[in-house]
Parts: sequence; C-alpha cells; structure tokens
Amino acid sequence: MTVLGIETSCDETAAAVVRGADGQGTPPVILSNVIRSQIDEHTEFGGVVPEIAARAHIAVLDRIVAEAMAEAGVGFDEIDAVAATAGPGLIGGVIVGLMTAKAIAMAAGKPLLAINHLEGHALTARLTDDLAFPYLLLLVSGGHTQFLLVKGVGDYERLGSTIDDAIGEAFDKTAKLLGLPYPGGPAVERMAREGNPKRFALPRPLLDRPGLDMSFAGLKTALRNAAEKAQPVDEQTARDLCAGFQRAVSDVLAHRTRTALSLFAERFPDAEKVIVVAGGVAANSEIRAALDDACRTAGARFVAPPHRLCTDNAAMIAWAGIERLEIAARAGEILDDQSVAPRPRWPLDETSASLLGAGK
Ligand code: ATP
Ligand code: MG
Ligand code: FE
Repeated sequence: MTVLGIETSCDETAAAVVRGADGQGTPPVILSNVIRSQIDEHTEFGGVVPEIAARAHIAVLDRIVAEAMAEAGVGFDEIDAVAATAGPGLIGGVIVGLMTAKAIAMAAGKPLLAINHLEGHALTARLTDDLAFPYLLLLVSGGHTQFLLVKGVGDYERLGSTIDDAIGEAFDKTAKLLGLPYPGGPAVERMAREGNPKRFALPRPLLDRPGLDMSFAGLKTALRNAAEKAQPVDEQTARDLCAGFQRAVSDVLAHRTRTALSLFAERFPDAEKVIVVAGGVAANSEIRAALDDACRTAGARFVAPPHRLCTDNAAMIAWAGIERLEIAARAGEILDDQSVAPRPRWPLDETSASLLGAGK
C-alpha cells in the first residue's frame, strides 16, 4: 500500500508518501516527508496565531504536496489512498488540509482517509521500530501531555494527562517570561545546559497523588515568583531558572513513567514492557535521559522515534492510513471518508478501528 499523507493541524504544513511493508520481509519505507514550518510567521507574536496559520497553509500546501509526490517519484495513479488529519487541531488549518486531500482523492479516484492527528503520533513507532501491541505512549507536545495505552489500531485508552498546561506550552511560557525566543523548548534547553538546577526549589506538582495525571501550571507560577524574587534576572539567573524548570519537568515525567510501566505490567503481565515517546518535547535531551533511566530501572524498552517523526509531520498521517487500510483489506471492507467533517476536538479514545468515523 502506498499512501499520500497531509498534515495541517497546527503550524507545520506537511505532505509525505509512505509505502507499507510488502508482507515478504520488506519493511515500510518513507518515500518522502516534506515539512514546512511556519515558525517565522508566528515568532513576532510569541505563539501560533490560528488565522495566520490557516492562510499560510493555503499559500503553500499545493507546492508541498507536489514536492512530496515528486520526491517519492510516484504519480497519483500509483497511490492507494490519500490520508489527511481531520482533527484535533486549529480548525482553519484542518479544513485546508482535509479539503485539499478530499479534492485530490476525488480527482484521482482514490479513497480519502480521515486521520486523528493523535493516532498518527501513537502509531509512528510502528513505522520506525519493530513494535507489537500493546504498548504505552507518552505524548508530550505543545498541545498535549498524556499517557496512552495503545492496544491496537483504533484501540486507545487514555491513562492520564495534564490537568492544565501541556509541557511544550509550559516551556514556551517559561521562555516568554525570561525573554527567550519562540519556540521556547529549544531556547530553554540551551540555557539550562549552563544552569544550576538546584539553585531554585521548584515544585513537582501532583506527585503526592496516585494515578497518572500531571499539572504544570503551578510550576509556571512558582517559576514566575522565583524570577520576581531574584530581580534582577541576569543571564546566569535565567540559566538557573531554566535548569530548575527542566529538572522539575524531567522528575515529574520520570516518576509518572515508572507508575505507568507498573500499571502496564499489571494489565498485561505477559507483554513486553515498552514505552514510546512522541511530540516536540521528546527532542529534549534531559527529558529523554530521565525517561531512558526510568525505563532501565523498570526493565522496560524505551522507544524514541527520530526527532523529525516525533514532531508534527505527514509521514505519521500516511502511516496511520496504511495501518487502517491493511486492517480493512483483511476484513474485506472498503474505506472512504469523503463525507467526513473536520473536528477541532477529537479525543483519541473516540477513534474506532472498524469505522473510521470522524464525526460518525
Ligand atoms: P500538537 O500538540 O498538536 O501535536 P505542536 O505543534 O504544539 O502540536 P510539536 O510540533 O510536536 O507540537 O511540538 C512543539 C512543542 O515542542 C513546542 O511547545 C516546543 O517548545 C516544544 N519543544 C521543541 N523542542 C523542545 C526541546 N528541546 N525541549 C523542550 N520542548 C521542546
Ligand atoms: Mg508544531
Ligand atoms: Fe502533534
């Protein structure tokens, strides 16, 4: 199966062509993976502006799709389907991507697959690694922070999530507070490298409570208070604040990961203990190391797909489409979501495998 994927739910305009495994030992292959980030358009506003994002997607999507097809060296007659993010995300962008995908699918006479963006993140590790169900997923991005149980294609269970800010959002707000550029994650990480994580005592919110929920709003407030008390915030103080913040986040994630792994072992005593990390925050070296460490002590396998596939991209959308097509083919079903509407909100546990079902 060869699928064209399209992703426009946030601030990346992306198109990719992926070919599935051939069933005779050849693994799946990413034929092209074109990503155009809109960071430059949003930088001066210190965050993503939805209206600007939607217009920027319209301006470049045709070209990005053409590039992805050319790089893959396939024509529209050679693909089996067009897969596009149908939600969740910024509605303007989702409309642009889904409608473009519908038009291409219709013109090419191919089925259209409406993909849940989070499902793309959840299944990516099966494209890059030899990974069987069930496994744990930790999704840490600008918009999401959650532990998911991935039991099969279309079979997801949310085990816990942030009750306020997403971690990427907390990184971005920390950067803004300290006058660092957007996006905040890489800037905070750079500063933290030269900082003393112990100078400021920052909280590890919710860790005294059982379960897998997390909270980062209190950490942000504590950081602001510490910065106010430390006036003036010189370069070294900013570095120490970044280091303290990053250490607190790493500690919380490592702690929750240990809990998630023991929960997983209870539920699936015979399965290999595996946790996959996805989302832009997974690029953070200290967080990666903390998770890796937590896995090692728990005797679990830690899977971190390459950075380019952890952040928003269209290869993950094409791949989710392939996984669905293969299930449908085995069941003798024909999939086509040409009538599906975009969904700004679409929890992953409402994504079912039997019927693609965005909006159904
Ligand atoms: P969604 O939540 O819908 O997947 P998104 O665009 O916010 O969308 P990504 O593109 O996956 O998600 O990730 C962007 C986020 O990752 C930003 O908040 C950014 O600050 C954060 N980030 C990127 N690099 C790092 C890093 N090295 N350390 C920490 N955070 C990072
Ligand atoms: Mg993004
Ligand atoms: Fe994403």
